[in-house]
Amino acid sequence: MYDLTGRKIDYLRLSVTDLCNYRCIYCMGPDGVCKRSHREILSIEELAEIGRAAVECGVEKIRLTGGEPLVRRGILDLCRMLRDLEGLEELTLTTNGAALPQMAASLKAAGVDRLNISLDTLNEDTFRAITRRGDLRQTLDGLAAAEAAGFTHTKINTVLIGGVNDIEIRTLAELTRDRDISLRFIELMPLGVCADWPRERFISADAVLKAMPELEPMGTDGVAELYRVPGWAGTVGLIRPMSHCFCERCNRIRVTADGRLKPCLHSDMEIPLRGLSGGALERAIREAASIKPESHHLGQRSSDSRRNMNEIGG
Ligand code: SAM
Ligand code: SF4
Repeated sequence: MYDLTGRKIDYLRLSVTDLCNYRCIYCMGPDGVCKRSHREILSIEELAEIGRAAVECGVEKIRLTGGEPLVRRGILDLCRMLRDLEGLEELTLTTNGAALPQMAASLKAAGVDRLNISLDTLNEDTFRAITRRGDLRQTLDGLAAAEAAGFTHTKINTVLIGGVNDIEIRTLAELTRDRDISLRFIELMPLGVCADWPRERFISADAVLKAMPELEPMGTDGVAELYRVPGWAGTVGLIRPMSHCFCERCNRIRVTADGRLKPCLHSDMEIPLRGLSGGALERAIREAASIKPESHHLGQRSSDSRRNMNEIGG
């Protein structure tokens, strides 16, 4: 499946819920989300049908996200249904890691190939301040549980927030010294609740290169630029949507938990998929992917998307 600018679209981020056990300051407000009725959120069967249709259209990789996908009832059934799809090369999931101590082995058994775990700090107080309620120990135990369950090439997502966690760049990168993981520093995007945050919070990922001049470039992995400290087991990645726009390499579409396809994270364009199935659903996905906007405009203004990240699926 190609868009009108010739980009191959083969990656779907499927949001399975907008609910979360955390309340990260850049992702949602302190009160979380207004709980919607079950009927407003896609059922497990609807999610599986969207996954099937997307794969039929040429999607090779599906990432389950949210909200927190591990709080969604039926998540393991969904993983099994998606894993059975012929043509799906990779099934991955992004999580805050809190439920991994209980769920990592079941996710592996249900066919999840790889995990992304979000971890912005190794300081307990900062962790609680960012997540408003989380416990750092749980996420670290989650990372260990993922390793014990046999997950390899796990990615850690770290959102850089100026004045909050930028002093920890080296400490966080140290996680890659002995482990085959990729820790990716992601530039904070002005979206939803953090759209109007002060400028100083939005720092360029150049800060990582300044803090660690020994990093050696190793090429790219999707939209991430990869680096390694010579001799260390893992890699450090930079994802720089703000300072180095990578839209020309963007291969993804997103579906929100209430069933709307977003061709671009930062556009308010949404195509309703609810009620469609079979060939009609496939046609809707192809048409929506074809009109993917060429680029975001974060250099000039905040995101045009009016939703918080937990509603879109990060
Ligand atoms: N709850 C899961 C988690 O935290 O990994 C999955 C959903 S979360 C919305 C997905 C990713 O989006 C997380 O890594 C989070 O840090 C990131 N994120 C949320 N808001 C963001 C923002 N404004 N800018 C950059 N990344 C953001
Ligand atoms: Fe929840 Fe993930 Fe958003 Fe944090 S970033 S509030 S863990 S959905």
